[in-house]
Amino acid sequence: MFDYLIIGAGLFGATFANLAKKAGKSVLVIDKRPHIAGNCYTETIEDINVHKYGAHIFHTSNKDVWRFVNSFVEFNRYTNSPIAKSKGRYYNLPFNMNTFNQMWETATPEAAKAKIEEQKAEILKLLKGREPENLEEQALSLVGRDIFETLIKEYTEKQWGRKCNELPASIIKRLPVRYTFDNNYFNDLYQGIPCGGYTQLVAKMLNGIEVRLNTDFFEHRSELDCVAEKIIYTGPIDEFFDCQFGTLDYRSLHFETEALDKDNFQGNAVVNYIDADIPYTRIIEHKHFEFGQQTKTVITREYPQAWSLGKERYYTVNDEKNSALYAKYKALAERQSKVIFGGRLAEYKYYDMDDVIERAMAVAKRELGI
Ligand code: FAD
Ligand code: UDP
Repeated sequence: MFDYLIIGAGLFGATFANLAKKAGKSVLVIDKRPHIAGNCYTETIEDINVHKYGAHIFHTSNKDVWRFVNSFVEFNRYTNSPIAKSKGRYYNLPFNMNTFNQMWETATPEAAKAKIEEQKAEILKLLKGREPENLEEQALSLVGRDIFETLIKEYTEKQWGRKCNELPASIIKRLPVRYTFDNNYFNDLYQGIPCGGYTQLVAKMLNGIEVRLNTDFFEHRSELDCVAEKIIYTGPIDEFFDCQFGTLDYRSLHFETEALDKDNFQGNAVVNYIDADIPYTRIIEHKHFEFGQQTKTVITREYPQAWSLGKERYYTVNDEKNSALYAKYKALAERQSKVIFGGRLAEYKYYDMDDVIERAMAVAKRELGI
């Protein structure tokens, strides 16, 4: 008998497991995949740490989270600065003085601000003081039509498989807009990539803890239900309840990875492809996350795809319909005295890695009295 059964060896499960063990609890972690680390898993190909489930850049403003992850591994100084290719031209992201210069040749913050204000006039007139109601209105209110048409519209419709005016405004609020020549994709205080990859970070978090891989909770539910006093569940919330109200929607991805016999393919870790006629959204060149000097390189093309049962769940779709459905499952979850639901899939939220760790730390504090 264990104190806790933790379903999922991703960052939520590993954080809780680590803190529970430190608090003297006995813990069993299971995962249905053949590896730990969930979606931030990295594997070594050609001596390069490859982000198997898409580019993962750690960034946070939370000191406790930053201290926690740095207590296991060292982080390097990587700062995400993606490049976007649109209609044959390259632009810096996020939207900053470099982007504005490439777009309109503006050189000072005043000139760029004036240009953005001019671009925003159209949407402000239409909104007449009301809040933007969808991603298109939100993007036009942030940066205006030129940037929307050049860098947002086609990428977003490819990524989500829906028109920009049918998507929630919240998705685009993630991207900074700034009037400095700063290509840092994030505004957070701390940022980096764990030296040696994320798998090593999670392995260290799980050090000394029993982990059973290739173990699906639902295939062994009756026996696993009784192995612990309490359960931490980090899988999809609807699956836990047999999808009794219907399935929550997700956006899935397909990755194509290849090793190339050259040392540098694109000169940057992340290049976004905006145009609708290119089926992938990004090419990741993994070695640049760690300033690799290997003679070969490994790249991954990321293709968005519709989700259906059996495919990996990557992005939650937090629109009105799915939010209402999630609320029904959440109400069921709150009635479970033995099970705690946490993480991206169990809370159905577009969480970043630091959010997930922060949430797991909060649950551990409450649960373990630490
Ligand atoms: P997961 O990592 O999904 O772990 C859940 C685990 O539970 C999985 O290993 C799964 O196999 C297991 N599981 C599920 N059901 C069962 C079951 N029935 N039985 C046993 N095991 C089960 N965040 C950032 O901060 N920066 C980034 O740059 C970033 N980039 C991203 C890029 C992509 C393409 C995606 C999809 C996400 C990105 N994220 C990023 C988000 C990040 O991946 C998540 O916040 C984080 O990995 C979530 O951790 P988790 O533990 O909640 O879930
Ligand atoms: N986005 C865009 N153009 C880009 C990059 C992002 O329009 O070149 C939009 C798109 O809608 C995307 C959202 O901004 O879903 C958030 O982007 P982010 O890079 O944070 O997405 P993630 O890394 O989570 O896929």
